[in-house]
Amino acid sequence: MENELSVSLSATNIKEAIDSAWGKQCTVHAPGTVANLVCGFDILGLALNDPSDIMTIKLIDKPEVIIHNIDEFNLPTDPKKNVAGVPLLDMIERLDNQAGFEIRIEKKIKPGSGLGSSAASAAGGVVAANHLLGNLFSRNDLVQMAMLGERLASGVKHADNIAPCIMGGVTLIRSILPLDIISIPSPPLYVTIVHPQIEVRTEDARQILRKQILLKDAIKQWGNIAGLVAGLMKGDYELISRSLEDVLIEPVRSILIPAFAEVKYRCIEAGAMGGGISGSGPSIFMLSRDETTAYKVEDAMKKVYADTNISFYTYVTTVNTSGVKFV
Ligand code: ADP
Repeated sequence: MENELSVSLSATNIKEAIDSAWGKQCTVHAPGTVANLVCGFDILGLALNDPSDIMTIKLIDKPEVIIHNIDEFNLPTDPKKNVAGVPLLDMIERLDNQAGFEIRIEKKIKPGSGLGSSAASAAGGVVAANHLLGNLFSRNDLVQMAMLGERLASGVKHADNIAPCIMGGVTLIRSILPLDIISIPSPPLYVTIVHPQIEVRTEDARQILRKQILLKDAIKQWGNIAGLVAGLMKGDYELISRSLEDVLIEPVRSILIPAFAEVKYRCIEAGAMGGGISGSGPSIFMLSRDETTAYKVEDAMKKVYADTNISFYTYVTTVNTSGVKFV
């Protein structure tokens, strides 16, 4: 992914890339991601060190995608219905149908968790395939292809999980058309996550959003987004904390997540800088400056959910700064 700009591929480029990929396979860890980062709906995201999917890919001579799912989630093996399949079918077309892919997906990120399960499969597949092909495609090409997987999962092409999954760290999607992705440097951050075991489908969580907003709310929101980006770049934890506020989406979406307000209150009381819904939920994430606080925040999350009849998982992790990793 050294090259960032799209190049038009000649038949010779394609043939050389395919010839050199035969007989090889590539395994990657595709990380989970937290999209939106509270105030940055559809434009901000960060990559996590845990959980991540493991994917292995190799070339096959027919222009098709064969998928092996290693999980208990009953995900589709039909490539047109699997979010890893659709981007790879697009890549096959760009390869003039000269080859196809066989892919094995060991899914660790639960689908519908709000932790970028679909993005990990969509992005991991194309990054691994591109590695086999000697980086024939640019980073933006890969994001474009992977977004087709997101469209399958949620009905909308969005890159706020795809971009951090591929690039690592915190990313800003300034624009989708044309694609304009910016890496935002950040100070060390600990991320504590609770994933209540209920499914919130991204598509449903989008349906309930208001389509129009008040100017006074918009002003508050863009103040927070600018504050968050500035805080991350300056390493100003206080500013990050003040800016982790969402007046547009959270008030609507949080009704889908049991005990959301209580979790948030208890986590901040335990020392978290702030946090909110991860992607479209149901996972809730909190940011902390240090590991000790991150574990106190985890305890707070556990206490709240222990009082409900909902089972849950928690994670304490850090920001993955390298994105999809080659094994
Ligand atoms: P998340 O925020 O965890 O990515 P989404 O609701 O966006 O959750 O995506 C999950 C949806 O995508 C589920 O309906 C799932 O069945 C579907 N899906 C299809 N293929 C995959 C895959 N390879 N990995 C994850 N989800 C997939």
